[in-house]
Amino acid sequence: MPSADPIASISWPLDGQNSMSQNALFQEMALTALFGHSQESLAQIIEKTGQPAYRATQLWEALYQQRVETLDDITALPKSFRDELKQAGYAVGLPHIQQTFHSVDGTERYLIQLADGQTVETVWMPGGDGGELGDGTEAGDEEEDEELAANDSIENCYKRATICVSSQVGCAVNCQFCFTAKLGLTRNLTAGEIAGQVAVVLNRHRVQIGRDRINLVFMGMGEPFLNYRNFMDAIRLLVKGIGIPEPRMTVSTSGIVPAILEFAREPIRPKLAISLNAPNNRIRQEVMPITKKWNVEILLSAVRQVPLRPRERVTFEYVLLGGVNDGRAHASQLAGLMAIPGLPLKVNLIVWNPGPGTEYRTPEPHVARAFQQRLRESCVPAYIRRPRGLDIYAACGQLKRTLVQIDGAAASAS
Ligand code: SAH
Ligand code: SF4
Repeated sequence: MPSADPIASISWPLDGQNSMSQNALFQEMALTALFGHSQESLAQIIEKTGQPAYRATQLWEALYQQRVETLDDITALPKSFRDELKQAGYAVGLPHIQQTFHSVDGTERYLIQLADGQTVETVWMPGGDGGELGDGTEAGDEEEDEELAANDSIENCYKRATICVSSQVGCAVNCQFCFTAKLGLTRNLTAGEIAGQVAVVLNRHRVQIGRDRINLVFMGMGEPFLNYRNFMDAIRLLVKGIGIPEPRMTVSTSGIVPAILEFAREPIRPKLAISLNAPNNRIRQEVMPITKKWNVEILLSAVRQVPLRPRERVTFEYVLLGGVNDGRAHASQLAGLMAIPGLPLKVNLIVWNPGPGTEYRTPEPHVARAFQQRLRESCVPAYIRRPRGLDIYAACGQLKRTLVQIDGAAASAS
């Protein structure tokens, strides 16, 4: 890295992040939840009870591999010890699916309730067809498409799905086109609450890790890189505990540069997606004010620091906003930006999903196709992400805890 690199001098108070608006009551409640603790931390809890060390392994396996929902489900532990844990105030402490919204396309959106009564949203997108017609995150991963095609004959024997996970209650980043932004930020999620969303959704669908193919996208409510420590702790629980391989996970960020630099040094990490959404600083500043803090050049320079695994590519997400960033000249300018020597990448185009109270316009399908074509002419791999669960406000940028439904979609309490 050249020493004149503008990002080299940036520091970031990552350690201070977790104290953000978590009230004392919540911290007390969260303390009792066993789900969310690392292996080391469970070992410390067990040590204090005077039980043999192997009980920590039993607890770890029950929480994450078996995904138990109550202490009484942990039959490997003696009943007397389970009672002791309960008396000490411990519980499994998974979040709770409060309400389920069913889309005509099979997508399910969940309103998930946390210990302090706050709610976030999580989305289950079945099929996970791994291509540009699906959730889009895996768009362009051809080698995986081939693997799936080979498995078509046993299609009904296992599940494929993508789960979209939230990282914060609300979001502070204030992107002008995003409905989550309208909520503002209430608080960060804990590692247990982030991984817990995945666990409850896996349980609901009786997923067997190892047999079923589950992708995770951290593209729900919130900016994961503004809750970096908890987010990365959750990743480790999901990989080492629940058993989902990290190349099946993608985190999307609006471009928090210091966190991207830290991410570049992580031994276990998901794939990276960057919400670029504009072909130049002027438009990006307008639609994503965070650009004033870290401009496009600094952002791209940080992304280049992330060492990629074999065949891995960085995804650049680009929300097409009618009349704002969707013209032919914009596509040409974006193609120029994406000509980054030595960085394997792809562009996922997302047609702006509408919702109440915003001024933007959804471009016509032919506009999106022309934009894609222009990128491809410049040898930039580009895919159009098909929105999922539009009728239940489950699509990108629509996660806003709305209980409103468009006609035809169904909601149920769980
Ligand atoms: N905060 C993170 C992840 C959550 S947003 C981030 O911004 O990357 C996930 C994706 O949804 C982002 O790429 C964002 O640009 C996109 N998005 C936000 N609002 C949208 C909308 N109304 N229509 C389509 N995509 C939207
Ligand atoms: Fe936050 Fe992402 Fe929405 Fe921007 S697009 S406001 S970073 S959730």
